[in-house]
Amino acid sequence: MDAKHTLGASRLLISRSAILHNARVLRRAIAPTVKLCAMVKANAYGHGADLVVDVLSNFALDESGRLPADQLAVATLDEAAALPDTPLPVTILRPVENVYVGAERQGIELAIHHGWTLTVISPSAAEDVARIALALGARASVHVMIDTGMQRCGVDAPRAPELLTRIESLPSLKLSSIATHLVNAEVHSDAFAAEQLRRFHQATDSFISARTPRPARHAANSGAIFFTPRSHFEMVRPGIALYGIDPTCRPSIDRPLRPVMKWTAPLLTIHDIAAGSSVGYGQSWTAPRDSRIGVVPVGYADGYMRCLGNRAAMIVNGAVCPVVGRVSMDFTT
Ligand SMILES: *Cc1c(COP(=O)(O)O)cnc(C)c1O
Repeated sequence: MDAKHTLGASRLLISRSAILHNARVLRRAIAPTVKLCAMVKANAYGHGADLVVDVLSNFALDESGRLPADQLAVATLDEAAALPDTPLPVTILRPVENVYVGAERQGIELAIHHGWTLTVISPSAAEDVARIALALGARASVHVMIDTGMQRCGVDAPRAPELLTRIESLPSLKLSSIATHLVNAEVHSDAFAAEQLRRFHQATDSFISARTPRPARHAANSGAIFFTPRSHFEMVRPGIALYGIDPTCRPSIDRPLRPVMKWTAPLLTIHDIAAGSSVGYGQSWTAPRDSRIGVVPVGYADGYMRCLGNRAAMIVNGAVCPVVGRVSMDFTT
């Protein structure tokens, strides 16, 4: 791009090669037979679902031609509808609620039409989806989320067998997967994770062992991929690590993830100030010595959070420079 066009503009750069690299790091942490369901909810964690899904579905990971992901998952029907065309199966994680409210029924019809997997956590939701699928002359793929301690949404573990059996009895439903979500995934050998997995096994083992083909089970988010190998089952669900952020918040050479997003902006002006001068609104920072101040044309209107004043740093030509003073609406110093 012509330098003149970018001068003054702040840019968010998304690295395709970093996504591929992180997918390789994640693939290395799981057995070759374990599938990888990439979490692309919330517009691919803010990275842009169009670009991220394109990489995950069209770029080979290595010479074998393997794709970075085997499946995709989003939170809502709207997010699924906004995804670009992809050959990868898509799961919608928010459970089907009341199908008679608003556009929910059309949303479910759309999901069945596209072959997206819907999450159900109650027999009544399963029956509703089954009825809609029957009316369409189609079979709906469903996923069951079991609550083993997150207390967010999922069928309570003791009631899961009943739900699974009910789903199986409805011919217009196909049970694709059964999952749970761990609370302390980024902790090594966490006792509660072990307890959650025990509950998950108890709720699903006998059902699974009597079925062919077996619905896939999964439990691991990014943290659990690295720290709780027993949670890998047949598939894992990495989100944050795929985008290059360490699930422990402490990057480690054991998990050489690369940030996918880079936010750049030019320095608008640079000026030298004398010791004792304050910078910005509220005089929240005073120069302890003669200082050189750079002004970056990015502020809280751009999403550079106001709470980062006097707390963050930016990299200028490789040097880490502290943010001083308050972040204003469209400037940071
Ligand atoms: C968001 C989410 C994930 C991904 O979690 P990360 O910690 O970002 O890897 C996995 N599973 C479920 C159910 C989620 O909602």
